Amino acid sequence: MEQHPSGLKLASWLVAAGRTVDPGASLNVPPIPASNFILGQGRSYARGDSTPTWEALEEVIGGLEAGKAVAFASGMAAVAAIFDQLPSGARVVLPDDCYQGVVGLAMAGAARGRWSVQRIALTDTAAWQQACTEADLIWLESPSNPLLTVADLDVICAAPRKPGTIVAVDNTFATPLNQQPLELGATVSVQSATKFIGGHSDLLAGVVTTRDEALWQQLHQTRTLAGAIPGTLEAFLAVRGARTLALRLERAQYNAMILAQRLLEHPLVTCVRYPGLPSHPTHTTAKRLLKGFGTIISFDVAGGAATADAVCRHVRLIRHATSLGAVESTMERRAAVAGQEHLPPSLLRLSVGIEDVHDLWNDLDAAIRATIT
Ligand SMILES: *Cc1c(COP(=O)(O)O)cnc(C)c1O
Repeated sequence: MEQHPSGLKLASWLVAAGRTVDPGASLNVPPIPASNFILGQGRSYARGDSTPTWEALEEVIGGLEAGKAVAFASGMAAVAAIFDQLPSGARVVLPDDCYQGVVGLAMAGAARGRWSVQRIALTDTAAWQQACTEADLIWLESPSNPLLTVADLDVICAAPRKPGTIVAVDNTFATPLNQQPLELGATVSVQSATKFIGGHSDLLAGVVTTRDEALWQQLHQTRTLAGAIPGTLEAFLAVRGARTLALRLERAQYNAMILAQRLLEHPLVTCVRYPGLPSHPTHTTAKRLLKGFGTIISFDVAGGAATADAVCRHVRLIRHATSLGAVESTMERRAAVAGQEHLPPSLLRLSVGIEDVHDLWNDLDAAIRATIT
């Protein structure tokens, strides 16, 4: 789906959606800092009845995936709301490579006896198909973090399911412009809007989108009862960020492809993972399913963890910081992050921004070379 049901291309939808149409109203829905409204008609209290600012964000993101969205305080609040739908004793399946916060949430629930967790390799499509007939929550993340493995999402989302099974796709890395899980048959698509949607490292927010009206109602109720509502300013900034998503993604993906190719030829780089490279293990799947290969590259440098740490200290334009999906390029050594010690010790995850690619390459190349003593 490149086109919204309104007939607009998605890049146009991003710019046009979620605006007030009343004559005389401001062109943008403003940040409305309201907890309650005059009683008598419509809204009464914001936690349950939303505010126009949250709804603008939900309209923009929901439209991208042709579903109905619920916005949350963060990506993890959105993830938690999905897990909250599970019956007690549910079976949850997670990929082997998966966002650490989701793994942490799933494992904490398992430790309390709330549900059981099974891990399956993202590329083991037959095992996922089997799991769809047995599990209550199939959790997929593709491309995955940080190995950028692309799963056979179309095949898995179309597999026969046990009634009531939720197939959830964490679409944060792809964004709804590169991949639309609901079109493939997923029950829910979840975004950390903190990343690409906001795009400026200045907010936390999350959004779940679904085409299942009953599930939408339940997710909305979970937000009302748990109170994991988006902040007013955050929702406003997320909408503003979303306006430029198509442009930012296009530029950052262009940069990422060039950097990935150059890293591949770098004498001090031992491995480059980018779904756009023919050498990537799931490149063929990426070509089939993704409209763009994304802006995240993970690569290993010769010399192990100490060298990788030195590269992080030497970059200047690229910032030594976690997170991803922003206008500025950021990089970190992932195995240095708690819970990520299983990763290759020198793996650097680079989130490519919208700077000039020549400046980015010069910065990266100089930082890598500076580590040779
Ligand atoms: C950041 C992230 C999350 C969590 O989102 P927050 O907004 O930080 O709560 C979930 N999944 C992926 C893939 C992420 O990158």
